[in-house]
Amino acid sequence: MTDKNDKGPSQHHASLVTHGGRDPFAAHGFVNTPVYRGSTVLFPSYEKLIAYDQRYTYGRNTTPTTDALCEAIRLLEGGEFTVLATSGLHAVSTAILSFVEAGDEILMTDSVYYPTRRFCDQVLSRIGVKTVYYDPLVGGGIADLITDKTRLVFTECPGSQSFEMQDIPAITAAAHARDVWVLLDNTWATPIYFRAFEHGVDVSIQSATKYIVGHADALLGSITSNARAAEKIKRTSIALGNATGSEETFLGLRGLRTLEVRLRRHYQSGLEIARWLDERAEVAEVLHPALPDARGHDIWKRDFLGATGLFSILLKPVSNEALAAMLDHLKYFGMGYSWGGYESLIVPFDCRSYRTATTWNPEGPALRLHIGLEHVEDLKSDLAAGFERMSAA
Ligand SMILES: *Cc1c(COP(=O)(O)O)cnc(C)c1O
Repeated sequence: MTDKNDKGPSQHHASLVTHGGRDPFAAHGFVNTPVYRGSTVLFPSYEKLIAYDQRYTYGRNTTPTTDALCEAIRLLEGGEFTVLATSGLHAVSTAILSFVEAGDEILMTDSVYYPTRRFCDQVLSRIGVKTVYYDPLVGGGIADLITDKTRLVFTECPGSQSFEMQDIPAITAAAHARDVWVLLDNTWATPIYFRAFEHGVDVSIQSATKYIVGHADALLGSITSNARAAEKIKRTSIALGNATGSEETFLGLRGLRTLEVRLRRHYQSGLEIARWLDERAEVAEVLHPALPDARGHDIWKRDFLGATGLFSILLKPVSNEALAAMLDHLKYFGMGYSWGGYESLIVPFDCRSYRTATTWNPEGPALRLHIGLEHVEDLKSDLAAGFERMSAA
């Protein structure tokens, strides 16, 4: 497909996202990969049909468009194999199902994205796979939780609401010593800011809906694995009937091309606003791992190459009315789920009802912010006006 040889191998993320998976001269010189739509793929002869002997066989399996995005993500992740999924959650469920069978146990971080937890509790439980939740800060102590039934350790770093930083190298070392797979939901950092495979992870999952698509206009996921895990994931993904839409795949390719430059701005503006919030009297704590005093900063500094635009704050106790007064009428920050698009978002969250291995008990409300690509001064003014409404309420 992509002939990288004539440009030489590139290690720079900015060049990988702009060139990965593209082969203009396979499409008459047009810069972007064409959008192939289709179910049926014709075979030229009886012999080829019976042998299933050609690159493309059926639209559900692969198309040149899905291949282009898989190859671009694979190169960026530095993995051996990438498959797409119709959403981030679909990538998570497919990845987990690739490794487990009835009677197995999995170790799941207690800080995990809530719908991942719901998949474990509602689906894995029905097929005889037990989920054991663990403290995200367990580090090498994960060894004590591994039993003969443990098939995989699922990590998410940082937790996408509460921002616990997991010691991924310590977890992978302990897990691999017992022949246990390590999966990572790497959506927050993306492969640009966390090199999953260099830290020993077997499978790196992206909700591409977030920063890869980057414009809040499509749902998409990816699973990238090392060579050891590739066959299991490939077989499971095909058997489950995964097929990403051609339009979504195109939007993933479109978004990916600007990922590196967008992330720089999310990182810079996010950190600036986190620092500014840290000085505000209304804020009890800022949960942003790149702040020197933040919990988990040492791990972030050791293992991560940057931070993105998502972080949380804990407010000092205020009434619901005061909180509503702040959140209602924000000009730039929208209230809504998901993140990773060009626009800023803010949502309250409360993990109390579903944590089982750890407790979540801040004194005041918790807010998660996604810092978009707007001018940072406009975002500060917007939040400052919100705090004024909060105090006045
Ligand atoms: C959003 C999200 C997902 C799920 O992605 P969808 O594309 O919305 O299904 C998975 N993990 C994390 C950390 C997320 O933020």
